[in-house]
Amino acid sequence: MSPSRLLNSQRSLVSEIWTLLEQADTVLIGTHEHPDGDALGASLALMRALNSLGKQVTVYIPDPAPDVFSFLPGFDQLTTVKPSRLDTFSAIALLDYTKVERTHLASAQYHPRSISIDHHYENPRELAFNLVVPQAAATAQILYELFKSVQVPITKDIATCLLTGIFTDSGSFMHDSTTPEILNIASDLMNRGARLSHIAHETYQKKELSSLRLWGKALSRVMVNEKNGAAVSVITYQDLRDCRATLDDLSGVVNMLNTLPQIKFAMMLCEYEPGKIKGSLRSEPHKATDVSQIAKRLGGGGHRLASGFEISGHIVKQNNQWRVTAP
Ligand code: 5GP
Ligand code: MN
Repeated sequence: MSPSRLLNSQRSLVSEIWTLLEQADTVLIGTHEHPDGDALGASLALMRALNSLGKQVTVYIPDPAPDVFSFLPGFDQLTTVKPSRLDTFSAIALLDYTKVERTHLASAQYHPRSISIDHHYENPRELAFNLVVPQAAATAQILYELFKSVQVPITKDIATCLLTGIFTDSGSFMHDSTTPEILNIASDLMNRGARLSHIAHETYQKKELSSLRLWGKALSRVMVNEKNGAAVSVITYQDLRDCRATLDDLSGVVNMLNTLPQIKFAMMLCEYEPGKIKGSLRSEPHKATDVSQIAKRLGGGGHRLASGFEISGHIVKQNNQWRVTAP
């Protein structure tokens, strides 16, 4: 495997981006709200790589990172304190974010040295430099190829961050995106010290009681709509409070709903704050449904088989039926 085949057609862009980062003194890294394993893994990997070049790096996340990722090297350096001015940074890199609104750093698009590194095809490429590679299984994969092509040493810590991004975004190497190339990369990252079993344990195989209780509620409520082939479940804000759980504890339930063989897609709705609902959608290759189209209609986006959206409203039970009502 040629390590940088993924970026072959964008070689000059890659070196332009790297030169720009090498010349920067201070770099702001941003990613999407409710950051996941790829958002955090990619951001912390880039932070470490830039730290090794002596750069001062701030990683801003719009929402707190789920505790399950606290094993990631550099986790303590993540900040939810939004920088007041973006023009004080020499460069800004937004990772895995789809569109700037999701980073809560919308004005980054006016920064002359703003860089997008993303694998979401609907990324509107509106920053000054846009390395958008929809074929990549994860933003962490793009960074892996980038580090290789500019010869940044992939240390054990960077390997751990990158493998976490790839492992989580590939659905534990079970999604369609799990190509021989991605397994070769995972193998290289393990050779560099990343421990796959540890990552798997920390991210998915460990559940608090609050989480199990919440999964129980969500699974017990699954509804199958025979007309449109949807399996849907809901979690209300009160459920979160009753279980002492958060939205993060629900991560993975939608994949479980999607295991039903007779459905076309699965949808999990959670009112995680009063009036704010997060929706997660999943399908499988043989179910022939592009869930990103459904997400888009609701103002969200994502991939064909895994998408999401946010809407305003309340989840309520009326006449024994779950409904979403206006906020
Ligand atoms: P999840 O259901 O795990 O939160 O999200 C699955 C995928 O859907 C993410 O990797 C991301 O690509 C996309 N996604 C989730 N929520 C949103 C959203 O609110 N807006 C957009 N544009 N994409 C989302
Ligand atoms: Mn991603």
